[in-house]
Amino acid sequence: MALIVQKYGGSSVKDTDRIKNVAKRVAGYRQKGDQVVVVVSAMGGGTDNLIRLASEINQLPSEREMDMLLATGEQTTIALLAMALHALELEAVSLTGPQAGIMTDEVHAKAKIKNISPKQVHNMLDEGNVVIVAGFQGMSPDGRITTLGRGGSDLTAIALASALEADLCQIYTDVDGVYTTDPRVVSKAQKLDEISYDEMIELSSLGARVMQSRSVEFAKKYNVKFEVRSSLNNNPGTIVKEETDSMEGVVVRGVSLDENQAKVTLVRVPDTPGMAARIFSALAVGAINVDMIVQNISHGSATPATDISFTTDKPDLPKALKVIKGLRKEIEFAEVISDEDIAKVSVVGVGMRTHSGIAAKVFETLAAGRINIEMISTSEIKISVVVESGKGETATQQLHDAFFPVEK
Ligand code: ASP
Ligand code: MG
Repeated sequence: MALIVQKYGGSSVKDTDRIKNVAKRVAGYRQKGDQVVVVVSAMGGGTDNLIRLASEINQLPSEREMDMLLATGEQTTIALLAMALHALELEAVSLTGPQAGIMTDEVHAKAKIKNISPKQVHNMLDEGNVVIVAGFQGMSPDGRITTLGRGGSDLTAIALASALEADLCQIYTDVDGVYTTDPRVVSKAQKLDEISYDEMIELSSLGARVMQSRSVEFAKKYNVKFEVRSSLNNNPGTIVKEETDSMEGVVVRGVSLDENQAKVTLVRVPDTPGMAARIFSALAVGAINVDMIVQNISHGSATPATDISFTTDKPDLPKALKVIKGLRKEIEFAEVISDEDIAKVSVVGVGMRTHSGIAAKVFETLAAGRINIEMISTSEIKISVVVESGKGETATQQLHDAFFPVEK
């Protein structure tokens, strides 16, 4: 008998047929005698619909009410899935995030999980229930409903698997696992049998639409091994786990495309100590995620100045611009420019630690395709470039062809 945490994303519960399908799969595990905790997302597209409703009423809704609204998406699914399991004569009970003991900080829309008290869930499992938990939500110390950021049901599942000391954590989605790149963009993409936490973090934070990257960071921190697999078939998925020596044999694990970034440039920022600190702490206070940062070499001698560019998530752009404009009183930069028409393409692999020449191959491939590079950033296991948005898919295809040639 194993304790299994399963998470079903929006596409796996998008209509009542799919919910019945999930119930059947859960029933299969119950019949083998396993205990099952199921974490679900809102029915496919449900969260986006709720956001649209809010925007029809108020352009700047209160964050408290927004989280209250968004949390209802997952609550619909938990109750429907419980009913589907009852229809199969299984005992099942649904719990909201707070009822399942998920406590967060007070940051609305991207709350962090602080603590999980798994007692209630354990008791209900011991009474013979399938326990269904609403993903993506928790409760702040002062009792407000919070949400964990888009895609946050993954985090709920990984954190619950850790708190419950589950034997197995399965993330069900509508693709067979993690691929060398997005199969919707490159048809030759190959499914991976395994991938390390670090590679997966890079690929998900870089826009491979598989999982929320914060949830993978959490899995790494608490060493929660998990499997990403399809809810539509029984194919084995991709195991995400600690890095092993054998993984370095493969230099590049994947190529990812992120079309959800925007670029902001502050022109002619005085080149004096403390400027970057001031700019990026103001953004941090505003809870704005900053990804790539590029500072140009200083120009002008009387009053040396420099341009500072950074990228942020597209939805955060209005907030970021507001923060930057607010800084104008204290920092005398010439102007701020923003560009939403960018795409970030990245090549990732732990094998880069021990192999050289990968960056050169990336740049040569893009040069051959006559694709202009606007920004570059590298880390031990990744090389990212920003290109104009219309070139993102082509760049991804060309880099995938270069690193994963198909044998003839
Ligand atoms: N329903 C939420 C979203 O769409 C959470 C999730 O799906 O994981 O972001
Ligand atoms: Mg989702």
